[in-house]
Amino acid sequence: MHDDTRGRGDGADSLDPPQRTGLLRRFLRLLTFVDLPIKQKFLLLTLGTLFWFGSMAIVTVFALTALQYKYHQVAEQIVPHDQAAREVLGHLQNLERDLQFIAHAEPGSDLLALQSMRDHVKSIRAVNARLSLRQTAVSGSLVENLLRSMAKASPESLEYLRDIMVVTDRIDQALDGYTTARRKSPRGGDAEATAAAFDAARLRVAEGITRTMQHAKSVAESYGDINNGIYQIIRESVNAILIVLLIASTLLFFFVRWIIVAFQRPIAAIIQQIDSLSTGDINLAKKVAIKSEDEIGTLSKKFNTLVDSVYGMTVYKKVIEEDAALDDVYHRLGDVFETELGIRDYTVYDVNAQKKAMRVAHPPLVGDAVMHCDADILTDCNQCRAVKTGHKVSSFEFPGVCRRFVPEAGMGHICIPLVAGGIAGGVVQLRFAADPAGTMRDTTTPQKLFNAETYINQSLSVIEAKRLMQTLRESALVDPMTGLYNRRFLQDHTAQIISGVLRRRTQIGLLVCDIDYFKQVNDTHGHDAGDLILRETAIVLKNAVRESDIVIRFGGEEFLVLLMDVQPDDAMLVAEKIRQAIEGMKVTVGDKVLHKTISIGVAEFPGDTDGFWQAIKYADVALYRAKDNGRNQCVRFTQDMWQHGDF
Ligand code: GH3
Ligand code: MG
Ligand code: MG
Repeated sequence: MHDDTRGRGDGADSLDPPQRTGLLRRFLRLLTFVDLPIKQKFLLLTLGTLFWFGSMAIVTVFALTALQYKYHQVAEQIVPHDQAAREVLGHLQNLERDLQFIAHAEPGSDLLALQSMRDHVKSIRAVNARLSLRQTAVSGSLVENLLRSMAKASPESLEYLRDIMVVTDRIDQALDGYTTARRKSPRGGDAEATAAAFDAARLRVAEGITRTMQHAKSVAESYGDINNGIYQIIRESVNAILIVLLIASTLLFFFVRWIIVAFQRPIAAIIQQIDSLSTGDINLAKKVAIKSEDEIGTLSKKFNTLVDSVYGMTVYKKVIEEDAALDDVYHRLGDVFETELGIRDYTVYDVNAQKKAMRVAHPPLVGDAVMHCDADILTDCNQCRAVKTGHKVSSFEFPGVCRRFVPEAGMGHICIPLVAGGIAGGVVQLRFAADPAGTMRDTTTPQKLFNAETYINQSLSVIEAKRLMQTLRESALVDPMTGLYNRRFLQDHTAQIISGVLRRRTQIGLLVCDIDYFKQVNDTHGHDAGDLILRETAIVLKNAVRESDIVIRFGGEEFLVLLMDVQPDDAMLVAEKIRQAIEGMKVTVGDKVLHKTISIGVAEFPGDTDGFWQAIKYADVALYRAKDNGRNQCVRFTQDMWQHGDF
């Protein structure tokens, strides 16, 4: 792990192409928010939508404000000044006409025209006063008032007003001069002064007309400018709104499509898998693709794990059903613990309910393997708490619950009985790391335990079936009266026995034993007494030989003993020991004590012959010799017995 991190650190300095594409992909994933939780994805979608709505609103407000400003410009700068210029021009043109009239008028009628001119001058002053006094209205919103105040009369207009006032004053002065000159000489008057005043008036009027026309032209130009501005604003805002709308709807389309794909595809795949699960045909190749690290990704991942475990379980059950023996099932269960569930510390015990014993079934106690329980449980299975109670026994729930578990620092145990048909046929002991308080140290342990129990539960029916099969098979090979193996057992296991002895290069001692005058027992004391003798003889035979030797009830009152791996001549010694033991055997029947003797024929395989069944025949020949010689004796087979044709 340490090396791994260091390797990654080194890689950052000099990136090779695959790493670079990996980084690029990570960057893209970051950019496309693939791995964000669903809630945050929708939050982002909402924020994005709001952003584009906001952008559109800002563009619209900007455009409308600009248009409103232009409107105020027209209302404040153009319309009143244009109108005023027209009015002033009208009055000036009237003044000009009056002046022309005076030039050609009869003396005396000029005073009338003069009066009209005074009126026009007054009107021009009124127009001026109206414009100068013109106040910007303050009704409306703050923005509107601000815009309106920004759009007030331009400096040129104000300058024109000032100029035209000057012109008006001068016209007035000229008219005053004219009047004064006319009064001094009522009949024609001071012709020179009158002419001078008249010329001055005409000059001023002409000047006013020029200035006003110039001003009107400039107002018209401003109006044109403002108009152009208005068109530009409308054009640009329509474009901006269209662009924003285009970008927003494109982004929205792709984002919504992406969200649909991210949700719909995995969910459809999961539905499909559920369908195939319910019909039982699981296709592991059709796993749900994991495209993101969000809730959908987690769902897909967990679903795949579920399918895996269901599939694994189905396969597992099929395999153990096909297994030959009970121990194969235990072995398979152990394999699952180790490879699938990551449980290394476990022991499977098999319980022999009849013998009240249990044994370590898997993993075998070889090499440096040790039992984690007191060895007492092997001979008395009721010492095992799980067997006795038929319930799960966990040191994690009750520390020190089982006294037969050998306490081990940092280790706790959970023993699960394999209960089938009401009795515990076995126990699975799982051992996990524990902290000093006795609680589970590893957070993955509960999940492991759950999985292990699921596998165990799946195995129970198969284990029971196998156990039943085994019992059946065993019962066919065992003689029910004496509990010894029967002839069928020997037939079934001949190959195994022979290969073992040949491999080890040792000998098997073969003792064919026959009770002497057995018929008499039946005849004198009844069949039950005969059966009792047979059972007692079986016990004596079993006790006289080693655990590894095999005692077989070969026929009615005939027994075959296989002495495994004997030294030369040892077979005769054991035979003699048996003979003496039977001689000393006392069987009480009612108020009588019966004594019996036994005759034994002895041969060796492969010492005497390399045919196993032939060797048994040899032993049988020897037995006949023993009977012939007077019974209650052991006879070692010799080749001459066969040649003499005793058999
Ligand atoms: P020998 O010393 O020559 O062996 O004499 P024997 O009487 O023992 O020989 P034999 O083979 O004539 O007798 C065997 C008898 O064992 C015949 C049969 O009735 C009896 N027998 C066989 N199986 C059983 C059994 O399961 N129970 C009882 N009670 N008797 C059996
Ligand atoms: Mg017999
Ligand atoms: Mg007999």
